[in-house]
Amino acid sequence: MPHLPLRLIKGYAAFKGGRLAEERARYRELAEAGQRPEIMVVSCCDSRCAPETIFDVGPGELFVTRNVANLVPPFAPDDVHHGTSAALEFAVTVLEVKHIVVLGHGRCGGVKAFLAGVATPPPPEDFIGHWITLIEPARARLACDDPDPNLDPETALERANVCQSLDNLRTFPWIREREQDGRLTLEGAWFDISTGELMALDPESGRFQPVDEAAAAA
Ligand SMILES: [Zn+2]
Repeated sequence: MPHLPLRLIKGYAAFKGGRLAEERARYRELAEAGQRPEIMVVSCCDSRCAPETIFDVGPGELFVTRNVANLVPPFAPDDVHHGTSAALEFAVTVLEVKHIVVLGHGRCGGVKAFLAGVATPPPPEDFIGHWITLIEPARARLACDDPDPNLDPETALERANVCQSLDNLRTFPWIREREQDGRLTLEGAWFDISTGELMALDPESGRFQPVDEAAAAA
């Protein structure tokens, strides 16, 4: 007997009888023609902020990479394994996505752990501790970026972290080049898991504002 958690077996049965039945033609088309998603999302591993759920997308629409605290490391050509950078490279240079969205979220455990304090330097086997040191520049920018004074420190850092990841995206030459010539846009968003509200970064003010669906459609 093959094994999977029962929750997954039940979920798959529901998918097979529901969405798969409705979207079978789309799956077949994607299998034959290959994927051509136009949007990539970098989001957190947190089980409460799945981009496919929040943005209500079908198969083939979103190219997603997830990691602890939705971090984009800076461009670092070396011999270390870079999972997020590899996903970015594929999405940008092979799939030629038109948009990259970094999606932060409320109550982020990675950001909370960083605020609670990370050993410096973290011991080599502390993968989380080492990974979340990538949040340090976001904390530094909070001091000079005129953060919204009404935000609690955790939310402020979650949002600064999105801005820092956007800056780090621009350290990749093939991203910077495409943004400059207009082939690619870089955007930031933050999802409030307690209210379900989605905020988007306004590049002019540097602040996050509620997404206005009516205005966007117009
Ligand atoms: Zn998180």
